[in-house]
Amino acid sequence: MAKTKLIRPHGSDELKILLLEGKAREEGLKKAETLPKVELSSREVGDLIMMGIGGFTPLEGFMGYDDWKGVCEEMKMADGVFWPIPITMSYEEKIDSGKEIALISGETKEIMGIMKVTESYKIDKEFECQNVFKTTDNEHPGVKMVMGQKEWNIAGKITVLSESYFPEEFKGIYQRPSESRRIFEEKGWKVIAALQLRNPMHRSHEYLAKIAIEVSDGLYIHQLVGKLKPGDIPADVRVKCINTLVDNYFVKDRVVTGGYPLDMRYAGPREALLHALFRQNFGCTHMIIGRDHAGVGNYYGPFDAQNIFHELWDGALECKMLPIDWTFWCYKCGGMVSMKTCPHKKEDRLFLSGTALRKALSEGSDVPAEFSRPEVLAILREFYANLKDKVEVKLHGYATGDAADKKK
Ligand SMILES: [Zn+2]
Repeated sequence: MAKTKLIRPHGSDELKILLLEGKAREEGLKKAETLPKVELSSREVGDLIMMGIGGFTPLEGFMGYDDWKGVCEEMKMADGVFWPIPITMSYEEKIDSGKEIALISGETKEIMGIMKVTESYKIDKEFECQNVFKTTDNEHPGVKMVMGQKEWNIAGKITVLSESYFPEEFKGIYQRPSESRRIFEEKGWKVIAALQLRNPMHRSHEYLAKIAIEVSDGLYIHQLVGKLKPGDIPADVRVKCINTLVDNYFVKDRVVTGGYPLDMRYAGPREALLHALFRQNFGCTHMIIGRDHAGVGNYYGPFDAQNIFHELWDGALECKMLPIDWTFWCYKCGGMVSMKTCPHKKEDRLFLSGTALRKALSEGSDVPAEFSRPEVLAILREFYANLKDKVEVKLHGYATGDAADKKK
């Protein structure tokens, strides 16, 4: 059988891999020891690793002013290539062009890479936030991140020397684009849908995933394994939940699971585009975009993340969206449905947000089987039972789904 031809990486015929290995890496590390050291934030480390493994193809380093401005205003880099969110690095002071610096993880102090500085520039942070997040409200976690950046953005090509603790800590889940592509090729898949996850997988995700499988060759369950805020379920527990669900309720040959090292920016529509872009680099042709994808609070309309795909110019992005409405269990329909397929009323449907679920699990109260599979709930219950400090989970108005929560 002829080898299947996967979708090409974004803006390039090949993955742009900036990560050095073997002897080249050893030499790079030796050199980095002699260079001035600059610490990176957690977000910057995630971005750097993505550039290292080709997940951010065709980027070759942190963005300069022209790319930054074009990306903010028009989602376009200086060379015309589509890019939806600035990938930048900041520092307290400017650094002379031509100088080489070692990039260090602020968290682990490990040497992550080397940059040859080409530019130092100041940005209007509010301008970036208004364009990217559609708000300058400092309560927005993405805005907060940008506002907290240092005074100067430092740009330049990088070489990457480490993938940090991800390959070790998330063995079997953390994956490079070259690995997912090899797996897809071996399976002979061509049409591949990606499912983004940052929560344990419940019935609604299972339903989304199965809709996607019905119209593709296979599904890539791709989860964030970066750091989380307190009260969220840690990545290793989520991984266990997802594996259990896949083992028990999916056709094995139709699903591949993987993890990526980025921090969430919660940029809603713009982040949905970034999600599709890097999934293309991992070999996916379609990206599932649900309700309020990558959103937070009430900053974005429920379908903003779907609508933005229609605003792109022809050829901007090859990975297409697979738009799916909000999904849930309906007692009258007797099955999983969406707003598009169920004609019934709110009282007939089971709504339970991730937040409401966490509250029920930490308090030991019942969770309806229509919401989550028993095998998944068992893992979550065990996690909460072993938690030393019970986390107080606050419920937001929109997340409670009112009386439907308690319905049997
Ligand atoms: Zn119904």
